[in-house]
Amino acid sequence: MPNTTRRTLLKASTVLPLSAALPAQQPPQPAKQQLPLSDFRPKSMLVVPETKIARAKFPVIDVHTHVGGVLRARPAAGKPAPVDLPQIVSWMDQLNLSLLLNLTGGYGDALARNIDGLDRKRPGRFLSCVQPDWNRLREPNYPAWQAADLARAKQAGAVGLKVLKNLGLTVREQGKTGPLVRLDDPRFDPMWDAAGKLNLPVFIHTSDPDAFFTPIDRFNERWDELGNHPDWSFYGRDFPSKPELLAARNRVIERHPKTTFVCLHVANHPENLDDVTAWLRRYPNMLVEIGARIGELGRQPRRARRFFDEFPDRILFGTDATPNGSSVPQQDLTPAMYQCYFRFLETLDEYFDYSPAEIPPQGRWRIYGIGLPDDILRKLYHDNAARLLGLPPL
Ligand SMILES: [Zn+2]
Repeated sequence: MPNTTRRTLLKASTVLPLSAALPAQQPPQPAKQQLPLSDFRPKSMLVVPETKIARAKFPVIDVHTHVGGVLRARPAAGKPAPVDLPQIVSWMDQLNLSLLLNLTGGYGDALARNIDGLDRKRPGRFLSCVQPDWNRLREPNYPAWQAADLARAKQAGAVGLKVLKNLGLTVREQGKTGPLVRLDDPRFDPMWDAAGKLNLPVFIHTSDPDAFFTPIDRFNERWDELGNHPDWSFYGRDFPSKPELLAARNRVIERHPKTTFVCLHVANHPENLDDVTAWLRRYPNMLVEIGARIGELGRQPRRARRFFDEFPDRILFGTDATPNGSSVPQQDLTPAMYQCYFRFLETLDEYFDYSPAEIPPQGRWRIYGIGLPDDILRKLYHDNAARLLGLPPL
């Protein structure tokens, strides 16, 4: 032991009897506090400018909504009165939303009801898409029937084809236990080709956030959400990995170069914009949409801005808006939800909520605006979607 230390110790021991003689009035040590994560509501102390964008700068076409749900909404005891169509149209006027695309229009009679209840009731404000009928998948003539059904849907007024994430994750050969049907199964080739020939863009959701394919544990950045909805996890069991799902989707895009694929939720991979960039460079028939992913884009504002700068003609505005309380609070169709998007896209505000929900619902972080210039904003909000849907530009 070095001399200096020994001297310090000796000196300390000499004062001990003196302090022992004093009354024991040491302040009590507070017990270490514990707080459940679910109760944690930190309030940011940051003082930075806050820009309110009540209304989008240019008329908006939202290509990703599930607004057809408004036609099925019924009053329920103990719940607020459901939002109705006139309410939605008045919010659209207030927010500068020119048109909402109802992706989940169903098929057959359901599609007809959606088109009658929305597209024909409020001409110019709503359009609807058709969906495949997976129930017929095992019928021998399914491939030809499905392709022909797209032609019938187009005749009825559908403007696109919507494919939900269930293809690849839950659609099975038999019941609930058969093998999963692969996204690039050749039985769908006539459908993808028909969509191209009929000029119906394919709006496709494949896989889910990266965190939904990793264990629900203390390292999972979406713990709150998966803790509340463990059934949203696709980790384990017989689920394909996320890279396998995305690779199957990309093979379909490559095999059908005359069909336009709008890959929803930033191609379901906003966690890695370098990957999405590589795909967009490789597949000229691929577009992306940003619905329910400003939480991802806004936590990497500089990379996101470069992404918009590189692909101003290939990114579409969407929100995944669902009227009357979707299970995902950031998608609930309200003015406040849309205003989060406008703030992210139009301002350079820092560190703000990406959703009106009290707890950030898709990961506990805040976002930064990317302040897009007018020319990109006009394309994103309106012109790219107008071109895709055969509507006039601004
Ligand atoms: Zn959706």
